[in-house]
Amino acid sequence: MIQGSCCCGAVKFELNTVPDMMGTCHCSRCRKLGSSTILFVKKESFNLLQGKEFIQTYKPEPPFSYVRTFCKKCGTALGEIGSESASFPIPVNCLDDDPVLRNQFHVFVSSKPAWYEIEDAAPQYQENPN
Ligand SMILES: [Zn+2]
Ligand SMILES: [Zn+2]
Repeated sequence: MIQGSCCCGAVKFELNTVPDMMGTCHCSRCRKLGSSTILFVKKESFNLLQGKEFIQTYKPEPPFSYVRTFCKKCGTALGEIGSESASFPIPVNCLDDDPVLRNQFHVFVSSKPAWYEIEDAAPQYQENPN
């Protein structure tokens, strides 16, 4: 069981299995939303333990279709917690335990700020490889 929570502890969740993937997006949106390094978790392995009422959803204007959630008490970025998708991203920052995985890729490296040095050997893509 891998535990996760927001900074103030209002939102708590656990993962029943090791997440599918860990990757880092260097685009300005992910950077500003505090979710640059994310894990992709399967919906069935994600279990919200408490704090549903504190999860605030942010939906940007079209054409952007991503959704981001955060704790409305403390502001901790929670990725797409509560998504109906089969697999969704959560920021690795909000985990309390080691997710076992290590970063597997870097995307949107062309948007990476100069102050961030890539220190791992994971493949780098200038944009999104898909
Ligand atoms: Zn919180
Ligand atoms: Zn991004």
